[in-house]
Amino acid sequence: MRIKVFNTLTRKKQVFKPLNDNEVRIYTCGPTVYDYAHIGNLRTYVNEDIIRRTFEIFGYKVLHVMNITDVGHLTSQADTGEDKIEKAAKEKQKTAWEIAEYFTQEFFKDIETLNIQKAHIIPKATQHIKEMQELIEKLKEKGYAYIIKDGIYYDTSKFKDYGKLSGMSFKKLNKYLIEGARVEPVEGKRNITDFALWKFSPKDKKRQMEWDYITEWKLSKEEYEKVLQFSKENPNIKILEVREENGYYRVKFNFVGFPGWHIECSAMSMKYLGETFDIHAGGIDHIPIHHTNEIAQSEGATGKKFVNYWIHCNFLLVNNQKMSKSLGNYYTLRDLLEKGYSWREIRFLFISAHYREEQNFTFEALNAAKASIERIRNFLHSLKNAKGKHSKEFTSILKKTKKEFLKNLADDFNMPKALATLFNFITEVNKLLAENKISERDGKKAIELILFFDKVLGLKLDEFLKEEELPEEAKKLIEERDRLRKEGRFEEADKIREELRNKYKIVLEDTDKGTIWKKAD
Ligand code: AMP
Ligand code: ZN
Repeated sequence: MRIKVFNTLTRKKQVFKPLNDNEVRIYTCGPTVYDYAHIGNLRTYVNEDIIRRTFEIFGYKVLHVMNITDVGHLTSQADTGEDKIEKAAKEKQKTAWEIAEYFTQEFFKDIETLNIQKAHIIPKATQHIKEMQELIEKLKEKGYAYIIKDGIYYDTSKFKDYGKLSGMSFKKLNKYLIEGARVEPVEGKRNITDFALWKFSPKDKKRQMEWDYITEWKLSKEEYEKVLQFSKENPNIKILEVREENGYYRVKFNFVGFPGWHIECSAMSMKYLGETFDIHAGGIDHIPIHHTNEIAQSEGATGKKFVNYWIHCNFLLVNNQKMSKSLGNYYTLRDLLEKGYSWREIRFLFISAHYREEQNFTFEALNAAKASIERIRNFLHSLKNAKGKHSKEFTSILKKTKKEFLKNLADDFNMPKALATLFNFITEVNKLLAENKISERDGKKAIELILFFDKVLGLKLDEFLKEEELPEEAKKLIEERDRLRKEGRFEEADKIREELRNKYKIVLEDTDKGTIWKKAD
C-alpha cells in the first residue's frame, strides 16, 4: 500500500516516494530545554510518533533525528529578546548548562511516559557549533551573509523563492511578518525577513554560553569601516588581522557569540541525514520563519533540494487559543498525571484528532478518552474468555478491519479514521460475542489484530491482557449497582460501591459511556 502525505511545500497530498529504497529519513524539531514541555508541545511529538510508527508498520526502515535546542532560541520567534535558557538560568539561579541538562532529562521522561519512541539520533545544538560555523562559512562564500552590529545575518532577498514553504511571495511574507509583529526590526537588517546566523555576545552582559568564531571576510572599504566601528563598541567583535588587497580588506575576526536558532537545525539535520532527505516535521508555527529559514540556509549552501516532504502538526488549543507558555493557558504532563489521568488517556486524546486539525483541549474530551480506553480494555478481556462457535462472519470482519485500518493510516496518517475502524470492529465483534459466535481461536486472532494496530497506537494494550480479571461475583455486583442507580436507589447503590471497595479493592467511576472500574490505590 502506498502512503500519501500532505506536503506543506506543494500544499497537496502526494504519494510518498523515499530517496533510498525502503528507507525514510526524518528530522523533527526538538524542544528548547528551558522549561517543562506543555501538553501542546507533547501533542506534536505524539503526532510525529504516529507518523514514524506508520512508516514502520508499513515495513520502512526509519532513521529519525530530533535535535535538542540547548542554546540560541531567543524569547521572540526571530532574533530579538533574551536567550530562553540564559533567562531561565538567571531566574532559577542555576547555570545555563544545568537548566538545559535538567529540562532535557525531564523531556526524555515525558516522552517515555507517553510511549513516544525516542529518535535514533538526538544531537544537541551546543555540541555542533563547529558544523554550524562551517555552514555559515559556506553561506558567506556564496554571498548570502552580511555583518551588522549584533551579528551575522542572512540576506533573504538573495535566495530565489524565499518563503515558498509559506506559499507567500517574498514581498507578502515581509508584510505578513511586520504586520503580525512576528519579527521586530533590527538596526542594519536589509529585509524584515533577514535572520541571524550568528549573534555576537552583547557588550554589557556576560553570557554563560558563548563560543569563539574565527572567520575571514573580504570587505569593501565602506563595510570595513562600519565593522571597525562595531568592534570599538563591542569587545566581542575582535579584529585579529587586516590585509588590504586591491581596494578590499581581508579581515580575520573572532566573533565571540552564539548561533542563531535556525542554523542548528540545518547543520544537524544535514550532518546526520544528508544534504537532501525525505521528511522534515514540526509545528505549524514553524512554517513562516524557522523552516522557511532552514530551507534558505541549507539550499543556499548546497544548491540542492533540502527536504522532499514537509509535514506540519496543528495546535492544541484552550478555549480556541493556542496553548502556550506566554499566554499561561497550559498544562504540563505532570499536571494532568497529578489530577489522576493516566498517560494512556492523554496519548489517546492526542491521537483521536488528525494531526493537521486544531484540537481543543477539554477535560470532557479527556474523560471521553478514558471511556474509550476502557472499552478497548473490556473488549480484550472478553476476547480472552471467548469460548463460542466460530462463524464465517468473523473472518470477513477481521480481514475488512485490517485493510481499512491500514488504508486510513496510509491516507495522510488519518488516525481518527483508523480509530473509528477499530471501534467499529469492537461493536461488530461484541455482537458476535453476545451471540456466542466467537471461538477461542477467533478471540486470539482478534487480540492479535489489536496488538498489531497497537504498534501504531502505542497504547501498550498488551498490558491489559496481563491484568487479572474481576471475579464473576464482582462483575455481577457492578451490574446490580448500575440497575439500582437507574432506578434511583442511590443509597443501596452506594452500599455496593463500598462493598466492592472493601472486598475487591476496586473503585468505580461513572462516565457517560457506562461505569468503569479501577484498582484502588
Ligand atoms: P518549542 O519548544 O516552543 O520550539 O515547541 C516545540 C514544538 O511544539 C514545536 O514543534 C512547536 O511547533 C510545537 N508547539 C508549540 N505550541 C504548541 C501547541 N499549542 N500545540 C501543538 N504544538 C505546539
Ligand atoms: Zn528546528
